[in-house]
Amino acid sequence: MIEYSNIILNNKDYINLIHSDVNASSFMFISEDEVFLRNFSYMFAKFLLCENNSRPCGNCISCKKVDMLSHSDMILLPKTHKNVLVEDIKTLIENIYLAPLESDRKVFIIDNFSLATTGAQNKLLKILEEPPKNSYIILNVTSESKVLNTIKSRCKKLRLSHLSNKELSQATSINPDSEVFSIAQGNLTKALRYGGDEDFANLYSSCLQTLQDMKDSKQLIKYSSILSKNKEDIDLVLDILESMFNDLLYIRLNKDNFVKNTHISSTLKQISSEYTSSSIDYILKKIIETRKSLDFNCNYTFLIDALLLYILEVKFLCKE
Ligand SMILES: [Zn+2]
Repeated sequence: MIEYSNIILNNKDYINLIHSDVNASSFMFISEDEVFLRNFSYMFAKFLLCENNSRPCGNCISCKKVDMLSHSDMILLPKTHKNVLVEDIKTLIENIYLAPLESDRKVFIIDNFSLATTGAQNKLLKILEEPPKNSYIILNVTSESKVLNTIKSRCKKLRLSHLSNKELSQATSINPDSEVFSIAQGNLTKALRYGGDEDFANLYSSCLQTLQDMKDSKQLIKYSSILSKNKEDIDLVLDILESMFNDLLYIRLNKDNFVKNTHISSTLKQISSEYTSSSIDYILKKIIETRKSLDFNCNYTFLIDALLLYILEVKFLCKE
């Protein structure tokens, strides 16, 4: 079923898209926010397949079938697995030359296209060069760098904007002041994952406590073991620390109105006195570096140890 349709109907990217000249037949929607991206594509298919003039009307049979993801002219790929394989594109090619069954158009949505094999991408390329009339291909892409340039150049590309906290709050029913939004940063997939999650709340307060209480290298092991307990949380720890240090920088630069973690702003203000703005800059760069190292399967505890030690060193140098 399509989810969050009300939010998408009022979303500025969606409104601009359906009011633009939809002459293209191939679209690439790009966003790291998988949940929003997928539903956005369904809503665009709903627009393309609607039988009324004020599309999408939400009331015609087409709209209702798209809502249930059961419209026979909306084909979702891949069917059973996550990766997009050559067989999926073969299915598309076999299907795309057949006449639509219920409407005068056909819409193919390929999810996870960033995970498509090179073989699958090359096979799709031929269809993108000369698509049959009244057929539409929508590619959902979370990481543009994994898509061949030849594919990108044949699609109308749309990079979806981050959602506002108001939109996230409407979609998730989480209080707009929640720390979930300062970390989710406009990403619905993340907000849904963190909202109401006890592990998230614990990790958030552990990160804050580390910044508040870690005074010397003797305490480093204690905080490092708390923050690197679960290796799948390591990305989240980096997201939280990055968000907090960004706020510390805003406070140092007297730009308090940019602070995202507003509910802990007085604590952050106290912490900020221990750093200079240039030292925070160095720490933010170190966090980015740590995130990159994660891709190379490094030892997680070692990475957190090194990051915390760096933070301590910077703090120490600031005191001098
Ligand atoms: Zn309709």
